[in-house]
Amino acid sequence: MLVYIVAFIFGSVVGSFLNVCIYRIPRNISIITPSSRCPSCDNPISPRDNIPILSYMFLGGRCRVCKARISFRYPLVEFLNAVFYVLVLWRFGFGWHSLVYFVFCSSLILISFIDLNFQIIPDVITLPGIPMGIVFGGFLLINPFMRDLSLGLKSSLTGAFIGFGLFYLIAVAGSHIFKKEAMGGGDIKLMAMVGGFLGWKGVILTTFLGSLSGAIVGVLMILFKVRGHGSRIPFGPFLALGSMITLFYGQEIFYWYIGR
Ligand SMILES: [Zn+2]
Repeated sequence: MLVYIVAFIFGSVVGSFLNVCIYRIPRNISIITPSSRCPSCDNPISPRDNIPILSYMFLGGRCRVCKARISFRYPLVEFLNAVFYVLVLWRFGFGWHSLVYFVFCSSLILISFIDLNFQIIPDVITLPGIPMGIVFGGFLLINPFMRDLSLGLKSSLTGAFIGFGLFYLIAVAGSHIFKKEAMGGGDIKLMAMVGGFLGWKGVILTTFLGSLSGAIVGVLMILFKVRGHGSRIPFGPFLALGSMITLFYGQEIFYWYIGR
């Protein structure tokens, strides 16, 4: 129990850092200095107002100095990251692979929120993520839960190639059919990274789950007139969702589908 509490606190602290990255990476500001400031009044945020999740609640969602509203995204990202760290530990136990999956989950949360807010997936996350995924997926992960999904360098390398190739083809085909960019280069690199971490079966399942959830949400948004036809919905969050489902339940989905 104590281990899960520690994981939750650690996850929320990392989540707090993710918020800094979500704000600064797309704006090309250093993620190290200066220290956190209120986006409205530019006053530095004191340590007591920088406690993940709790400070937002104590302050009633407003800056202590200028009373400007603080985006709900801040506690949300901290909470999400904390929950995923607990889930990783619960699912995969204590070990090196859990540390790797912490990094993987945090990267996916970071990518999702940047893509939602800015419609980009920055190279500074995905480009180092590709070799990291291949190395960790290929060499380090000895994971009983992912036996058929992500073992061996061959599966990780093939996964990265399939992720890249598949989405490159979709991008080329899409731009021919729709006469405009249908798939961003960021999605292609993201899926190469996912392929490294999850192996070739994992990247195919992720593609399927990501497209399915994206299509469902897209149709719902048109039905409920949230957005009109032809408006671009960022694909990154759906691919991240597909990756998470594959990470946690890919093994079961494969057994259920193939039968055993
Ligand atoms: Zn302020």
